Amino acid sequence: MRIGFGVDVHAFGPGEFIMLGGVRIPHSRGVVAHSDGDVMLHALCDALLGAAGLGDIGQHFSDTDPQWQGADSRRFVVSVLALLHARRLAVANVDLTVLAQAPKIAPYREAIRGQIAQLLEVGAQRVNIKATTTEGLGFLGRAEGIAAQAVVLLSEE
Ligand code: MG
Repeated sequence: MRIGFGVDVHAFGPGEFIMLGGVRIPHSRGVVAHSDGDVMLHALCDALLGAAGLGDIGQHFSDTDPQWQGADSRRFVVSVLALLHARRLAVANVDLTVLAQAPKIAPYREAIRGQIAQLLEVGAQRVNIKATTTEGLGFLGRAEGIAAQAVVLLSEE
């Protein structure tokens, strides 16, 4: 078994929605990012890469590379999963936490869970989605941005 951890942060900016776990969520702000700025999927990719000993998302999908401009972050997860499968590594489970004052994640929790399970080619029972505010504290509490953390366990086939 191999464990990995990932974290990502993006600032809020102009916009009417954010992408979280591959799900479009209406919001009064968007995120500032080179890709679609999906903090959950970026943290997930980093956790998967970390568990596999394959570095981080920036090494694989540079945020200065024009081909990733506005990219759908689901593509990153699919690419990373292929790297894992080539090494005979399978996802045992993932546990993701969103940190944000807003928007509320609860209404989208099951949709995000299903989307991530589908991307990882595992059953939804292997994916857990949590969310917390920071009780108004810090840059997240001031709603200046959004963050996500991910922990994954990989099994060696
Ligand atoms: Mg990111």
